[in-house]
Amino acid sequence: INILAIETSCDETSVAIVQNGTTILANVVSSQIETHKKFGGVVPEVASRQHVESITLIIEEAFAQAQVRPADLSAIAVTQGPGLVGALLIGIVAAKSLAYLLDLPLIGVHHIAGHIYANQLVHELEYPLVSLVVSGGHTELVYLEAEGSFRIIGQTRDDAVGEAYDKVGRALKLPYPGGPHMDRLALAAEEGVTFPRAWLEPDSYDFSFSGLKSAVLAALNQANMKGLSLEPQAVAKGFQDSVIDVLTGKAMRAVQEYGAKQLLLAGGVAANQGLRQQLAVRCTESGVPLLAPPLSLCTDNAAMIAAAAFLKWQRGQFSALDLTADPQLKLEGWSV
Ligand code: ATP
Ligand code: MG
Ligand code: FE
Repeated sequence: INILAIETSCDETSVAIVQNGTTILANVVSSQIETHKKFGGVVPEVASRQHVESITLIIEEAFAQAQVRPADLSAIAVTQGPGLVGALLIGIVAAKSLAYLLDLPLIGVHHIAGHIYANQLVHELEYPLVSLVVSGGHTELVYLEAEGSFRIIGQTRDDAVGEAYDKVGRALKLPYPGGPHMDRLALAAEEGVTFPRAWLEPDSYDFSFSGLKSAVLAALNQANMKGLSLEPQAVAKGFQDSVIDVLTGKAMRAVQEYGAKQLLLAGGVAANQGLRQQLAVRCTESGVPLLAPPLSLCTDNAAMIAAAAFLKWQRGQFSALDLTADPQLKLEGWSV
């Protein structure tokens, strides 16, 4: 079974061909970071335009890399949402055209289900499990009692963790996106500035990062007014320590309470070295396996969309050709 998948929900144009849900034959990712850098963030109209310009080439490149012909495909998958509506539509139009022309079933995929099932490309999953989803737009603890059944047990009440990383990175004048740069600075620091931790109510699995972000910005401003400057490494480490403590603390509590057999890390911030290290230590202590995708499968890519689509393919759950973008698509309703 070869599934060709397309991902265009934000600022990566990606096309993958994945065999039997696990073997990546091609996973071409064209990032628009260089384009959006000069604006300090993703400009939606620019993103859509760039997807239009590159999608055909990326599809051709995926076929070439995979050494697969259109006749060897079994289905076409595409990210349906959530994401930027204009960006999603480009992938959807391309996917529908391919499905129609090649007379293949179409499978719409939830972007976050894709991030979670990126793990299936490299690991054997065991249920029930808990997934910590940390990305540019999402911060969620998701409980999966069985394959494809998603229950959100906690989520951010304000900023997503990747968003907070990027905003603090911007205040530190780091290039966009700030997350990876913050990670590098934090790991190089000896000592961090002390910032608060937002635990919220003792029994809550929700998150909040806007208070932390404000605390960092206030500390930078105060130092600035006194004519001092805070060491960027120390600020990055202080911020990262606070984020990681809370993410790790809540994820481990969820693993215990829900009797999870595995903890799955997912989303772009899953590439964070500090987070991976601390979670690994805590999971070893608790005797619960920590699964995380390799770095290249943490940030947006189409192979993860193919992996999630394979679950739908196995169940014969296909989408109609009138599939349309849903920028607010809910994960819980998307169960396979
Ligand atoms: P979503 O998946 O919620 O729709 P998105 O697709 O825009 O959002 P991803 O591609 O999953 O987001 O992740 C991008 C985010 O990951 C950015 O905010 C980026 O700064 C962050 N990120 C990437 N690598 C790291 C890292 N090493 N440390 C911290 N953050 C990182
Ligand atoms: Mg991106
Ligand atoms: Fe993403």
